[in-house]
Amino acid sequence: MTTLYRNLIDGELVETGTTMEVLNPATEQVIGLVPSCGADELDRAVAAARRAFKTWSKTPIDDRRAVIQKMSGIIKENADELFRLLTSEQGKPHDQAKGEVYGAAGMMAAQSTLSLDDVINEDSDTRLSRTRRVPVGVVGGIVPWNFPVMMAMQKIAPAILSGCTIVLKPSPFTPLATLRIAELIKDAAPAGVVNIITGEDSLGPLITEHADIDKITFTGSTATGKKIMEGASKDLKRITLELGGNDASIVLPDANVEKVAEQLFWSSFSNAGQICVAAKRIYIHEDIYDELSAAIAEVAKNVKVGDGSDQGTGVGPIQNKKQFERVCELIEDAKENGYKFLTGGDVDPSGTGYYVPITIMDNPPEDARIVAEEQFGPVMPLMKFATTDEVIQRANDSEYGLAGAVWTGDTDKGVEIAEQLETGTVWVNEYLHLSPFAPFGGHKQSGFGAEYGVEGLKEFTYAQVITVKKDAMI
Ligand code: NAD
Repeated sequence: MTTLYRNLIDGELVETGTTMEVLNPATEQVIGLVPSCGADELDRAVAAARRAFKTWSKTPIDDRRAVIQKMSGIIKENADELFRLLTSEQGKPHDQAKGEVYGAAGMMAAQSTLSLDDVINEDSDTRLSRTRRVPVGVVGGIVPWNFPVMMAMQKIAPAILSGCTIVLKPSPFTPLATLRIAELIKDAAPAGVVNIITGEDSLGPLITEHADIDKITFTGSTATGKKIMEGASKDLKRITLELGGNDASIVLPDANVEKVAEQLFWSSFSNAGQICVAAKRIYIHEDIYDELSAAIAEVAKNVKVGDGSDQGTGVGPIQNKKQFERVCELIEDAKENGYKFLTGGDVDPSGTGYYVPITIMDNPPEDARIVAEEQFGPVMPLMKFATTDEVIQRANDSEYGLAGAVWTGDTDKGVEIAEQLETGTVWVNEYLHLSPFAPFGGHKQSGFGAEYGVEGLKEFTYAQVITVKKDAMI
């Protein structure tokens, strides 16, 4: 019998009348049923969060830290079960799923140590002025399907640390590990502080427009981010938007080909390319283009595409059919336009599972769809460049501004280029490293606001300035 997962509302695990099916993208088999919530369940969750906010917002921060640390510990203790479940619903190989689950637990523990201290603006003979950060209230969290556990926990931890309460909606494609965590952490926080409800995409706008939700923290596509901004504008909800990206990696001629080939490969193909900050365009200096592109293609030859639960799989399936079809469409477009493939390109449409072979394209033009659009799949274009000015201009010629990377033997030169890239994050000689203590956020249509660090925590609060005139009554 298929397992029915329950939602967490007001400290209780609940079922609703209707359910949705969750598939394993490797087998296309149903592996779980989850509640399909609508306005009524959302109202109940928001009311519970509102009630809980009264006490939780006044609970000492050290007690709130302890709750987050407890949740982190519970996730770690159950990591084995959770990462297997994550692989079965998301598709990523076991080692990457393990990394996500432990990473989420570690990130929560690290974030629990953050503080928003009062700031003294003036302390003179006549006046004391102080800024304090006040939690905004009830938060609506909406997360995507590529890193469901990490994204959920990176919203819950800072929200409740700040003193807010939260109603979180996982993606309908990947709610299972999150709901299992809900079950495990049910009693870690007071009832109503954390509520997790599942539903179709149509539940999203109900959250965005709910009159008793004060803030939306969203991770997902730019298209949905725009809808959220529109919905949230009705009552001027606070919003944090972590959206899409089309990140450029720039490889300078002094890069060590042997050392960077494998790293460049994984910067694009981890999680089957379904990472907001994956390298989605790789620009290689013409002096080393042939050698490095051949070395990257060689790495690809030794990586197995398959079911993430099989030992040795490096690249799993695409998470869902819609995204699979989109990636196939981009490959077809490249074929129709006669672009050259170094590897891959032949998808078996009749096979079971949403598998796309590791596909590397050889120097497609800048206006090719595979270069201009976010592919979000295991398809990577390699492009040649001649001068630094030219490549900076090409890298910045994007509606997105999420992240980027520079690979070079000269780190000063790397930093000089990094400072000219119009993105929220730039790595020099590494990739995908995010710190719980540094703000992560996008420029341009990659979103606004930040997660992580003190900046991320501030997003769940507003600044209140209290000014006391010292001698007024004397
Ligand atoms: P998506 O926008 O389709 O869905 C994300 C979430 O929004 C889901 O929970 C979905 O149910 C919900 N949703 C759908 N329509 C909605 C609406 N009208 N109002 C409110 N909520 C709605 O994104 P996805 O396909 O799940 O994720 C892939 C995208 O996410 C990619 O573009 C990727 O780059 C981006 N992403 C960004 C980051 C980041 O931190 N910047 C991280 C991961 C993924």
